[in-house]
Amino acid sequence: MSDAATRTTSTVTPVEPPRAVQRAAYADVPLYDPKRVPTAIDLSDNTNLWGLPPTAERTLRELAISRITRYPSLYAAELKAALAATAGVTPDMIVTGCGSDDVLDSAMRAFADPGALVASSTPTFAMVPIFARMNALRHVAIEEDATHVPDLEALAATGADLLYLCAPNNPTGRMIPRDALRRLLRTFPGVVILDEAYIEFAGADASHVPLLAESDRLLLVRTMSKAYGLAGMRVGYAIGAPALVGEVEKSRGPYKVNALAESVALAALQHDREWVHEHVTLAIANRLRLEDELRAMGLSPIASSANFTCVPVSDCVAVGQAMRARGVAVRPFPALPHVGDTLRISVGPWPMVQAALDALRSVLAERGPLRDTDTIAIPRGAA
Ligand code: PMP
Repeated sequence: MSDAATRTTSTVTPVEPPRAVQRAAYADVPLYDPKRVPTAIDLSDNTNLWGLPPTAERTLRELAISRITRYPSLYAAELKAALAATAGVTPDMIVTGCGSDDVLDSAMRAFADPGALVASSTPTFAMVPIFARMNALRHVAIEEDATHVPDLEALAATGADLLYLCAPNNPTGRMIPRDALRRLLRTFPGVVILDEAYIEFAGADASHVPLLAESDRLLLVRTMSKAYGLAGMRVGYAIGAPALVGEVEKSRGPYKVNALAESVALAALQHDREWVHEHVTLAIANRLRLEDELRAMGLSPIASSANFTCVPVSDCVAVGQAMRARGVAVRPFPALPHVGDTLRISVGPWPMVQAALDALRSVLAERGPLRDTDTIAIPRGAA
């Protein structure tokens, strides 16, 4: 960019773009705003609150300047090989991206022409309808069932060109039974994106990688933002049949994983897997303890397979604000199907979780006796 151009951009205040340059499909694309406010204890974004794995940190501190003055590798070949080894697949089954956000966005562009239909279950990851609109796609949401499992038959019956599923799902933490998924893959003609951002927290056999042997239309999307503690590095990836990931790679374009991110992610995969495993184990233990404590308060957390717990609490936005005033941020999800208002609480080191429990207890005590909508029973499904 020329100096003149730089000067111009820095002095102009943003205005409504003139009609002629605004792309019609972007008219109602909102900027993503999870209403994050700096708070002493932030349990609102499901990242690794124990910090950075040790070799990743050392690599970050010692990275040669020459890595930054030159371009990174085109498609992160070394990182792909390490991710493939970790997932037990071949490198040609991996595509990387600038966070799994980038991989999801690229996949939508790769597998759906403008105007095509994307279907997802609701509730789910809030960016999905936004990515659909960013790619000029139509989006339809189908309510999950009362056990918080997506209604796969209803999703397939929408006639969508592309399906997005998430397991463990954000914000409920629920899984999808493998047999149901297998049946869907046999009959659904389009690509199925299955977001496994939280899969490390769901147990050793939870991943749907084995289904890749049965379907060349399944794309598993993963991230190093959660279990690996690298959210700020922005490293995501997908696993699928070589032809499938090849299309995502075309749509993604070159140089999407920066040099710093590639080195740090590589170091974490090669040397920090034990650290990651230990902290995943701690996260699961603290999630179970959090669920017990919430039940002891008379609340009914949804049984989760992730590093967070979603718990019905009426007036969740006001409760979330009152908790923030006490120094703890959690994420409210108002009016979810079947359960109504909920709070999603990420787990981290126990003192942080204890602070969230103390804040919640104090807010609820101030508000008076629990209401029916605070104690709503969650049916336990097979997932
Ligand atoms: N998928 C899900 C389900 C998520 O919750 C998130 C982040 N909150 C992402 C994808 C995106 O993660 P990232 O871009 O950091 O990889």
